[in-house]
Amino acid sequence: MTAVHDDDTDPTDALSPVPAAAWRRDMPVTGKVKFCYGPMDCGKSTLALQIDHNLARQGRQGLLLVRHDRSGAAQISSRIGITRKALEVEADTDVRAVVRQAWEHGKHVDYLIVDEAQFLSPEQVEQLTDLADEACIDVYCFGIATDFRSELFPGARRLFELADELQPVQVEVLCWCGRPGRFNARVRDGVVLRTGDTVFVADTTSYASGGSSTGEVNSDTTRSSTETTTVRYQVLCRRHFRLGEVGPDASGPGQLQLT
Ligand SMILES: [Zn+2]
Repeated sequence: MTAVHDDDTDPTDALSPVPAAAWRRDMPVTGKVKFCYGPMDCGKSTLALQIDHNLARQGRQGLLLVRHDRSGAAQISSRIGITRKALEVEADTDVRAVVRQAWEHGKHVDYLIVDEAQFLSPEQVEQLTDLADEACIDVYCFGIATDFRSELFPGARRLFELADELQPVQVEVLCWCGRPGRFNARVRDGVVLRTGDTVFVADTTSYASGGSSTGEVNSDTTRSSTETTTVRYQVLCRRHFRLGEVGPDASGPGQLQLT
């Protein structure tokens, strides 16, 4: 029989004692950080704009932010045709300063919608959590989790680490085999590229410089033939992404043509 004394502390017990409700009523409420992630074309931007629409209708005021929109302009654009203006987040933008600026102009900020959040720096993700914790702002981030090599984008990684809620978005984006699409393969001439330094709309410069052109991609060839070689993205299931199999219609027009 093991006696438990009041002064015993269990080093494996990570839970803190929680004070009574009356005391907790004085604790500040915090905002929540939510990360909705999924492959290209899974409807993230559409969902972002729907959430903004609903919150605005309920009297909340928010800011729309985007890191790199596919349209190239500072806006959140959905592939089904809805577009809203957004504030562009640059590499050195302090998101807290953006919110402070809105406050100075007399605008309430109840929530933030951040599209293409995978391109945020880890520091910018931490700034968003500051806004949630210190200013009680709800933060809704939308983005792709992994790059064309199936490795986490730095911004997505920090969101996975810090967000209160993680929600995969899957609106029946399917691989050619019918299984759920999960990975954005970069494809050239029917070949899934594993390395590369060519910058495309959905990839960052830092990723582009990460490739050493030791794989299928010869960087010089890629540069000189960018205008004539079609590189496209194709959403694949894990199995076919890893096998590098792009399906029977790989030579036809891709559903995710970005060039
Ligand atoms: Zn498949």
